Amino acid sequence: MRRFIAQGKNSSFTCLHCGQEVPPLANGSYRNHCPFCLYSQHLDVSPGDRASDCGGLLKPVGVDYSGKKGWIIISRCERCGELRRNKAALDDPAAADDYELLLELSRKPEF
Ligand SMILES: [Zn+2]
Ligand SMILES: [Zn+2]
Repeated sequence: MRRFIAQGKNSSFTCLHCGQEVPPLANGSYRNHCPFCLYSQHLDVSPGDRASDCGGLLKPVGVDYSGKKGWIIISRCERCGELRRNKAALDDPAAADDYELLLELSRKPEF
């Protein structure tokens, strides 16, 4: 299984779902999903640890809003079915998450 998020460093990657080049987050933290289609890859057991062997595509299925963390993208792994929660990156200057897509998910959650 090809990993599209480099292990252990914050680098750009090519989205496995939409094929767009995704730049690293400007604030230096890990970008764990594609800002264009909001897909991710199942690589973590705990956020950022890259300890999962699954490698399946994480399909965005809904969003949650928490006053403390802001928008959370809920994704389901297409390989193992696990639900993951990823903090959205809406304020990233290089490539912010697609807010319209986020709103669409909040209107019709699939999970
Ligand atoms: Zn994508
Ligand atoms: Zn999985």
